Amino acid sequence: MPRLKRRRSIRGNYPTAANDVIDPPMVFKPEAANVVARFARSKPWRGDQLTKREKLHKALSKAYGIDVTMEFRLGMGSFYDSKKRLIVLATPSVITQLHEFAHALNGSDEEYAVRWSLNMFRDHFPLSFSRLSFKGHLALKPIRKPFEKQKLKRKNENESE
Ligand SMILES: [Zn+2]
Repeated sequence: MPRLKRRRSIRGNYPTAANDVIDPPMVFKPEAANVVARFARSKPWRGDQLTKREKLHKALSKAYGIDVTMEFRLGMGSFYDSKKRLIVLATPSVITQLHEFAHALNGSDEEYAVRWSLNMFRDHFPLSFSRLSFKGHLALKPIRKPFEKQKLKRKNENESE
């Protein structure tokens, strides 16, 4: 396919909108869904966030049977190095971690990584997801306009941020 937009990277097959990737919903391996459900209950945005992210990474790797290292280098960009089998995170953002983990699972396919991470995040953090706004495929937080706010509130009273 020809490159139509100069500023877009060659491998950057990013979906253009969040709706393109969250509908229809993705179905996950039950072990992996359980891992993220447990992580969600651990109140990821409270206490020692980096230790919680590391636990999540180890448990997800185990669920998929992959051997990938993850480390934090705050201040740099987040990325997955396929040669070193290494995820580098510049932020404790849960969506970013899930995104880079999806690259570890399935390579440089951005459409897959965005779909995987946003679906997984929505499944376990519906309230936080509802507060995101989207600029193309990029999830931005916080924001206005929660959809189905009342319903989600009742369902997720314990969800923390
Ligand atoms: Zn990516």
